[in-house]
Amino acid sequence: MPIVVPRAVLSIEEATYNILRLVGEDPEREGLKGTPARVAAFWVEALQGYHQDPQAVLNSFADGAEGYDEMVVLKDIPFASFCEHHMLPFSGVAHVGYVPNPDNKRIVGISKLARLVDVFAKRLQVQERLTYQVTDALMQSHLDPAGAACVVEAGHTCLACRGVKKPGAVMVTSSLCGVFLSRGEARAEFLALVRG
Ligand SMILES: [Zn+2]
Repeated sequence: MPIVVPRAVLSIEEATYNILRLVGEDPEREGLKGTPARVAAFWVEALQGYHQDPQAVLNSFADGAEGYDEMVVLKDIPFASFCEHHMLPFSGVAHVGYVPNPDNKRIVGISKLARLVDVFAKRLQVQERLTYQVTDALMQSHLDPAGAACVVEAGHTCLACRGVKKPGAVMVTSSLCGVFLSRGEARAEFLALVRG
């Protein structure tokens, strides 16, 4: 009895080879020979956020409890992500802030805010969700902050090179939680820091 092997799940490399073939290319020609392997390596790296836990990023060092309870803001965090509708890149900067909980006064290393953006950016995204996920992860974290805020400004390739073709247009999204919602001064201070 021959062993029946189920149809293998296509690897990204095989899928890319097929795309090249289906658009009328010759995947075997010199210039394209290494392309499926390069594309596969690229997507594995570009979408590694699916395998990263945002809370683990925020928890990785016990660098909190230093008694600071003013607003912490990291602005102009560069990122690149991919729109889930076209798998085309969108990139720009994120500004992330939080106000520590006045009772626990926990803080995280400032680089953790940049890594948090990357955890969500390295997934297929819509910009609105990326923005919300950053503040949501902060609010759900061990910091239990008084508030969290995120503003994302990005240019979308799918806006520039297909459909309405508007290169240079910048999309701005914001997510405000806790004191950033309830206290006008906190919101104004954050936005002034981000724009300053
Ligand atoms: Zn798109």
